Amino acid sequence: MLTKQKCSTAKCNMQTFYVSSLNGRCFCVDCFKAFFIKRISQTITSKKMFSPNDRIMVAVSGGADSVCLLHSLKIIEKRFPKVELIAVTIDEGIAGYREGALELAKLNAERSGVEFAVYSLKELYGVSLDELISKTEKVNGALKACSLCGVLRRKAINTAARELGADRVATGHNLDDETQTILLNLLRGDINHLTRFNSTIRKHKQLIPRVKPLERVPEPEISLYLYINDIPYHNVHCPYAESAMRTDVRNFLYQQENKHPGTLYGIQNAFKRIQESLQKNIESKGIRLCQICSEPSVNEICKACMILETVIDDKV
Ligand code: SF4
Ligand code: ZN
Repeated sequence: MLTKQKCSTAKCNMQTFYVSSLNGRCFCVDCFKAFFIKRISQTITSKKMFSPNDRIMVAVSGGADSVCLLHSLKIIEKRFPKVELIAVTIDEGIAGYREGALELAKLNAERSGVEFAVYSLKELYGVSLDELISKTEKVNGALKACSLCGVLRRKAINTAARELGADRVATGHNLDDETQTILLNLLRGDINHLTRFNSTIRKHKQLIPRVKPLERVPEPEISLYLYINDIPYHNVHCPYAESAMRTDVRNFLYQQENKHPGTLYGIQNAFKRIQESLQKNIESKGIRLCQICSEPSVNEICKACMILETVIDDKV
């Protein structure tokens, strides 16, 4: 990416190493690093994601996004000495995949000097994702691995955050993930997911608010940041990663972003406005406690318990 142009930052005369396709701005290595962290700080501030005394649980899978989030928050946190970070990995129980990711999550937590914990689905719910999938295949063969995994992992993250005394959970979702999800939910007509609203307002005392500090960061810039900082991450695909539709949406969005830079921000900004007007509705729906596990849920029985009950009751 080296060009003969000089960095666009005022008073910086260094050689350009990266040119933003969004606005043509040129960055030298140091100015890119500073810009990268500043944009995350601005997202955190503008959405009031954290308070200066928060204990923040960072959900670290070991992959690029979550590892980048941990390192970025560690830098930003220096300005807030009372903030505490804890890195947590959810071990879904995916043989041949999760072990390597766990090692990298642990390594990055150690390098950042951050407390580290692992919560496993097997310990929490008595069944690993591998076991659950083989059982559900026998039941109806149709349940998607990522849907099961997503529901159980979300619940596990909330349990971990509560047990560890966290005020907030930070996840590594980036700009590309966010816009893909918006489009996917629209294409599937999935209003429930479309209107799921991440808010820093605590909707229930047992539900720890979740925030996405990287939501304005394009995926390629995350890879670039990890590369120039020599940060190791787990670069292996989960064997269950399915969703052909997400891949199609991802490819479509990349094409559009390449042809029309700013498309991703456009989708995200438009959707934010729609969400704001929907927010009232969602909050009025209210959160109750699941009748089986007593965890927060919008229905009488939470989704995780529905999955586990179906599988275990079928005695396969
Ligand atoms: Fe879970 Fe799907 Fe992600 Fe694999 S790809 S870890 S199954 S959500
Ligand atoms: Zn439940």
